[in-house]
Amino acid sequence: MSAHLYDALTARFPKRDKPFLTTAEGRSVSYRELNEGSGRIASVLRDLGVEPGDRVAVQVQKSPEAVLLYLACLRAGAVFLPLNTAYTPVEVGYFLGDAEPKVFVCDPARREEFAEAAQNARVRRVETLDESGGGSLMQKAKAAPPEFANTSREPDDLAAILYTSGTTGRSKGAMLSQENLASNARTLVEYWRFGPKDVLLHALPIYHTHGLFVAINTLLMAGGSLLFLPRFDADTVIRLLPEATSMMAVPTFYTRLLQHPKLNPALLKHMRLFTSGSAPLLAETHREWGAKTGHSILERYGMTETNMNTSNPYEGERIPGSVGFPLPGISLRVVDPDTAAPVRRGEVGMIEVAGPNVFKGYWRMPEKTAEEFTSDGYFKTGDLGRVDERGYVYIVGRGKDLVITGGFNVYPKEVETEIDALPGVAESAVIGVPHPDFGEGVTAVVVRKNGAKIDEREISRALDGRLAKFKLPKRILFADNLPRNAMGKVQKNVLRNTYRDIYKNAAS
Ligand code: AMP
Repeated sequence: MSAHLYDALTARFPKRDKPFLTTAEGRSVSYRELNEGSGRIASVLRDLGVEPGDRVAVQVQKSPEAVLLYLACLRAGAVFLPLNTAYTPVEVGYFLGDAEPKVFVCDPARREEFAEAAQNARVRRVETLDESGGGSLMQKAKAAPPEFANTSREPDDLAAILYTSGTTGRSKGAMLSQENLASNARTLVEYWRFGPKDVLLHALPIYHTHGLFVAINTLLMAGGSLLFLPRFDADTVIRLLPEATSMMAVPTFYTRLLQHPKLNPALLKHMRLFTSGSAPLLAETHREWGAKTGHSILERYGMTETNMNTSNPYEGERIPGSVGFPLPGISLRVVDPDTAAPVRRGEVGMIEVAGPNVFKGYWRMPEKTAEEFTSDGYFKTGDLGRVDERGYVYIVGRGKDLVITGGFNVYPKEVETEIDALPGVAESAVIGVPHPDFGEGVTAVVVRKNGAKIDEREISRALDGRLAKFKLPKRILFADNLPRNAMGKVQKNVLRNTYRDIYKNAAS
């Protein structure tokens, strides 16, 4: 029977068995084992009463077995629902209540913590899985048959629900269809030239679209292999880079590796591709990486709801600070946030995308879904950006991070770029903070380079004349580092909260 996504992923499985993934300790799972192991778990899921379309919620540490479980869900026709390992019982309770999964798989050490939440959500079965493959799920799987007749799936059937990180309001479940994921993997295999000889260094979490779909689906479809690390650790990455041909990363991987004394081009003999995404890569990091390693990082842009939207070219110029071109088959446009009319080339506006990659809507939120799509079928990404003369796309920030001061729009990225270019500045974040006169006051939070002494007055003086007066930060504050989430995104909501009172008594 045709299991749409699973069939697409396995179409190029190698005829002669070879490792699909190898852990840092040298444990490996071959393609044959992948097929058998996922077959066993799919049999278990079916025995547990999972039927096509049922959700299977999973909050487990990264492990080879967690990958098998993902594939097992596809084969059983279940909707895979991975949850960030940092979520608390209260948060997990919300997801279980909202998604009503039939089965919930969690870490054995946390089973008790989640018992009440699972019961309240009437989850039928709770199974466990730990980092080394222990727990009730694999115990059952060992006794189950490896053969499994895959459940037939249509392109529009759901394959997964991924909850958005939801920095404002309730977290929303993005419904991703079989074809959303299959089409994007197909595109990436081709655009980034993945093949059976590729070995991808995988140090990303697998509850997020980047580590799960962009990395795993693409390499499966290419018939390649993974060097599978439980988490990012600079020493381990440096040790394993000589065995890899490619790495998919968030920007912080690069900044940390650049500080490693052993990073040098000799380690990268087999490397053909470094990608970056999930958060903006500083142009300076791009350049430093190029100077130090001879490799030009390929930056791309995507999101949970849309998979990958744009990418710098494989061949051709990869521009620091740009996320490249819309991928084949994907339409991208930039519109005026007020009128929704397309802006002129080069102007900043809201980014909208359409294509086979775009999700089916938010789980049980038809109104929210309707709000986020235009009448002609484009998804409003919420990102602000512009497209230059040559068609390269630039992300200027999140719409909700736009600062409106005295009625003027200030795009944080523009101010951050000016500040980041100053000697002594490592990085910066520009936010809007409530201000009695201006509505919001442009506020910069700056991280100095090691040992640098640059202060508020020097930065103000340097920006004066380079930016229009209304864009100049009213205050420039200093911090040791910027708060980031697991995907390397700066948490501007945290900064806004920290500094929310600084203009309380300000008068113009
Ligand atoms: P997520 O759904 O967690 O993958 O977050 C998606 C958001 O991350 C996008 O809407 C962008 O705001 C941001 N993002 C992803 N890739 C990039 C990139 N290369 N540069 C800037 N922002 C990015």
